Amino acid sequence: MYYTKDTILYLNGKFIKAVDATTDLYSQTLHYGYGAFEGIRSYKTSHGTKIFKAFEHYERLRHSCKSVNIPFDYDSEELTQITYTLLKKNNLSDAYIRPLVYCSPNMSLTTPNEVYLMIAAWQWGKYLGDNLLKLCISSYQRPNPNSLKVDAKVTGHYVNSILATSEAKVRGYDEALMLDMNGNVAEGPGANFFLEKDGVLYTAPAGHILPGITRQTVIGICRELDIKVEEKFFKPEAIEGADSAFMCGTAAEVIGIESVDTKPFRKPWPESLGAIIQEAYKSQVLEKSYSDVII
Ligand code: PMP
Repeated sequence: MYYTKDTILYLNGKFIKAVDATTDLYSQTLHYGYGAFEGIRSYKTSHGTKIFKAFEHYERLRHSCKSVNIPFDYDSEELTQITYTLLKKNNLSDAYIRPLVYCSPNMSLTTPNEVYLMIAAWQWGKYLGDNLLKLCISSYQRPNPNSLKVDAKVTGHYVNSILATSEAKVRGYDEALMLDMNGNVAEGPGANFFLEKDGVLYTAPAGHILPGITRQTVIGICRELDIKVEEKFFKPEAIEGADSAFMCGTAAEVIGIESVDTKPFRKPWPESLGAIIQEAYKSQVLEKSYSDVII
């Protein structure tokens, strides 16, 4: 599903066939979840294939590694160029790109001597689909920021996300909405959350969330479109009686929410601020002007 016999990936300075790639089973990443990764998208635009915010994603990869003491000294411009070459070699335009920094064999709980980089790309539909989502409040909280670097995209952190998403699916929902350790609404297992109430959007501030690049893009769109956004803590009770909500992330893009714990929102999605932002986001990644899409 992610590769065929012809797929090429980037591994430690070389482009090789995915089927020929190997790894060491004693890698610290495999045993302890000590690695860092990214999720990036490229789009077929009228100016050719464009990787959306490639530099920002690779800077975050550097930040993730640095914050957990994984040595990683690639330059973000160089990584961007490598990724364009990878896309070309695989004949991909609309793609999801997955860089992964993983560690050398080390069964001790010490920083690694060596790290490796692989970059893969494949075609992937919108991660949470196109339909409005039915969410449930998860019984799993976001990790305590004193235990982990919650703003780093570190492999092991995603056990928390997998538990939350799989619990939601077992309970018959599409996705989970997670609270932080103080009971405030934080984010989804792989996407940030925005709530619309009386013409204002609310989203959790940095601290307990991965403050996404898409979240930042949405905040920028709101500034341009004169939509008021507040980054503040709020309790799940604020969701009841709110007008609408959406999630956003590189893989999910912008996706509307139908209900949380079976309670629907007041506004139909097409009339929500989220629907406007969804179109504006689409136009930004495709490098079109907003007016081509919205009006
Ligand atoms: N929160 C979490 C926990 C995530 O895994 C992601 C996906 N990287 C996001 C938010 C959204 O981040 P971004 O917009 O940078 O993809």
